[in-house]
Amino acid sequence: MYKISFVNYRVQYKELKKEIDKAIQRVLSRGDLILREDVEKFEKKLADFVGVKYAVGLNSGTDALFLSLKAAGIGKGDEVITVSHTFVASITVIVQAGAKPILVDAGSDFLMDTEKIEKVITKRTKAIIPVYLNGRMCDMERIMATARKNDLIVIEDAAQALGASFKNKKAGSFGLTGCFSFYPAKILGCFGDGGAVTTNNSKVAEKIRLFRDHGQKTKTQIMCYGWNSRLDNLQAAILNFKFKYFKKWIKKRREIAKIYENELAKMPELRLPPAPDSDPRFFDVFQNYVLRAQKRDELFYFLKKKGVETLIKDPVPNHWHKGLSLSHFKLPHTEQLAKEVISLPMYPELTNRQLDYIINCVKKFYAP
Ligand SMILES: *Cc1c(COP(=O)(O)O)cnc(C)c1O
Repeated sequence: MYKISFVNYRVQYKELKKEIDKAIQRVLSRGDLILREDVEKFEKKLADFVGVKYAVGLNSGTDALFLSLKAAGIGKGDEVITVSHTFVASITVIVQAGAKPILVDAGSDFLMDTEKIEKVITKRTKAIIPVYLNGRMCDMERIMATARKNDLIVIEDAAQALGASFKNKKAGSFGLTGCFSFYPAKILGCFGDGGAVTTNNSKVAEKIRLFRDHGQKTKTQIMCYGWNSRLDNLQAAILNFKFKYFKKWIKKRREIAKIYENELAKMPELRLPPAPDSDPRFFDVFQNYVLRAQKRDELFYFLKKKGVETLIKDPVPNHWHKGLSLSHFKLPHTEQLAKEVISLPMYPELTNRQLDYIINCVKKFYAP
């Protein structure tokens, strides 16, 4: 058992148990399970929050990305640009849609190096999927300008960035679609799988609504071949309830990032992510707190011994996994990051005492 675990679902449930149980019971006693009013309510809430016209609830962030590509008509013969330094789903969806993933390197902020995009654009390129890793948006001015200039679609992988913004415009409101995940560990998480697409395009919203429910417009009218990718009504009810706390949780995550920054920034062995207020264009939500560390693996085991659970998410970069057949990409910075990154615990329920303990352990490792 860890003293401090990397995620802790039980603490939040314990804190909110009474209200959560009530929300669940309400849904179950009404018998509202599939595509009922809680889904609709949640979609409205999400669209308003992100600042777009439509949101469509889906069964995962992966399907949000996949169905966005399908709705944009992307498939065989097309190329889609994204990064290797991401959760593998950002790449998977391109392959599953029948297109070819083109991977670009990451910059010093862990995100897509925007300078590298134009160099890989070909006649076949159809779309860019920028990934807002760890809750920080990409420079979307740059990316949208590149997309406009080259007539490319932008599909935002905002699975880690609900509530983040760039120049006061929220993640999920820039591209043709924004794709969100409500996997339990995400900033707004349900008790299972969930996702959503946001968009200002009524046709795309309509298509994805059809896609998620077997192409059915009504019980008697099938418009196209679809999939089964609905957000459960029960999960939607839980998300509606959690939405109340969501802004508070982001604030807390940013406070924790500030504490890590204040305590660890001076250590020469570490390179921290951008501090919460270091660049006024970015509002980061700190889905994860990922830093670069010298002697990373030793630090991981030292912290483990001290009872602190950390995460080394991608010790092998995605494009090096044999089964993915992407090893022809040479991405030196991504490969370097894979050797150095480590994620410290980051969730709103962390107490100051726990934070002190984590920080002291890190300090002790480098200055025994
Ligand atoms: C979590 C995540 C996804 C996938 O979301 P799921 O809901 O787990 O399918 C996609 N991209 C990124 C960057 C993610 O972090």
